[in-house]
Amino acid sequence: MSRLLAGSAGPDLDLHVERHGPVPLLGAVRPGRLGRLAGQVAEAGLRGRGGGWFPTARKLAAVAGHARGRPPVVVVNAMESEPLSAKDAHLLAVAPHLVLDGASLAAETIGAGRVVLAVRADGRALNLLAAERFRRGADPVRIEVHQGPDRFLAGQESALAGWIDGGPALPTTRRPYERGVDGRATFVGNAETLAHLALIARRGPAWFRSAGTTEAPGTLLVSVSGPGVRVREVPVGTPVGEVAEPGAAVLLGGYGGAWLPGDRAGALPLAPEPLRAAGATLGAGIVSVLPYGTCGLAHTASIVRWLASQGARQCGPCLFGLPALARDLSGLAAGTAGGTVVDRLRGRAAVIPGRGACAHPDGVSRLVTSALQVFADEVEAHLGSRCRAATETFQKTG
Ligand code: SF4
Repeated sequence: MSRLLAGSAGPDLDLHVERHGPVPLLGAVRPGRLGRLAGQVAEAGLRGRGGGWFPTARKLAAVAGHARGRPPVVVVNAMESEPLSAKDAHLLAVAPHLVLDGASLAAETIGAGRVVLAVRADGRALNLLAAERFRRGADPVRIEVHQGPDRFLAGQESALAGWIDGGPALPTTRRPYERGVDGRATFVGNAETLAHLALIARRGPAWFRSAGTTEAPGTLLVSVSGPGVRVREVPVGTPVGEVAEPGAAVLLGGYGGAWLPGDRAGALPLAPEPLRAAGATLGAGIVSVLPYGTCGLAHTASIVRWLASQGARQCGPCLFGLPALARDLSGLAAGTAGGTVVDRLRGRAAVIPGRGACAHPDGVSRLVTSALQVFADEVEAHLGSRCRAATETFQKTG
């Protein structure tokens, strides 16, 4: 089933309007109020596709509730700083006007006076599109396109709001819905979420709910990797085995996600709650298959080394905990660690979560814990000497 990607018009605004109809703008509300679309979004049960799966209507209401008489800001988050995710870039390439429609609809629903689209890649083509849309009256507010820094954490909401304000792209304890860009209440919405919102505004909540699950209606974009990354659109709840080839293990939710054994993952539905119950996470819809014959421990060690280098080193877990996890896991994978390394890894991964100002360390701990469980046989093989698959994986990943 394809809703966002079907009949994509690319950058052609006339073709987009021919296929989807004009964007149904109703007029901006006063700051502090909520437009009618917010009720439709609540009825539709739309949840954020950026990884948190938070109800979009509640987020819109929270921003409106903190406006304090000043027009809020809308930020479209297409930073996609997770290396295994390709869906937002793909969506902006094939259906950019759906995302921009959603941004304008969200803006008028909360009475926003500024709209920013943040992308990781070159934003010049999107900037031309935004100019054309404004000239032709498709957007009441001219959408600014900003190219953000290419860092893992740059897409985190508080980091993004701080960077748009001219600061470093580092997570802070600031909550953008209270005080974000320009010190104003800021709605930060993932690009895919806003594209869904644009379709809900046109087709209604019942149509949106006709796909997906009761708790998480609609479709989602999935980035399936190994080898290469493909983007697919499927109803929420589609079994993992229907989107990905079988493999030794599957990493769900990306670098801050969790491994599941390949024979168990195939039957699990791609939906946030069932995956959480299985010890994994859906995140931004990332499914990465570990091919048979590849060492999952060595592969995870290279990911954790990279993640440890991406921490902002502002909090204890990033400064000390993640480098220690990376060191021990690399030692284990290389067969050079002592017999106590597994207990040390388990202990650290258990105490790190919840201690940083953002969830980055929690994700790394989850990844390490799942690797020790799913690759338990490899852990045994590595204690003392390298396994053959590890040697080959090390040669590929460095
Ligand atoms: S936990 Fe790490 S990434 Fe998050 S805010 Fe603290 S130092 Fe930055």
